[in-house]
Amino acid sequence: MTDCLFCKVYKKEIDAEIVYEDGNVIGFKDINPQAKTHLLFIHKTHSENINQMVRISSSQLNQVFSGIEKYTNENGIEDNGFRLVTNVGASAGQSVFHTHIHLLSGERLGRFGS
Ligand code: 5GP
Ligand code: ZN
Repeated sequence: MTDCLFCKVYKKEIDAEIVYEDGNVIGFKDINPQAKTHLLFIHKTHSENINQMVRISSSQLNQVFSGIEKYTNENGIEDNGFRLVTNVGASAGQSVFHTHIHLLSGERLGRFGS
């Protein structure tokens, strides 16, 4: 999608600190981190949210989570512990409508809630 912020990130049309990339997926640093490590993992195919992604192709979900497994395993984040979050819809806090998985790590994380 031409007007989508995260499509522009994976196409390298806007700057981001990319920490992981394979043929289908990229991981990059969140511009406004909510934990010591706050990354966003996205698929290079546009979808609005995780439900839409599954409806388009559940293998995309598999590819995103395989990227997360590889990155966290190879960078000590799995040992440290991490949390994954994905927001669906504005009332849940979604502000960028290209499916993304937040990865939070690097400190003791508080409980989540409202
Ligand atoms: P959401 O609120 O949709 O769940 O998450 C969107 C996330 O994208 C937010 O945590 C926000 O800080 C991050 N974000 C928004 N614009 C940019 C940007 O231009 N670059 C990067 N790296 N992150 C962004
Ligand atoms: Zn997009």
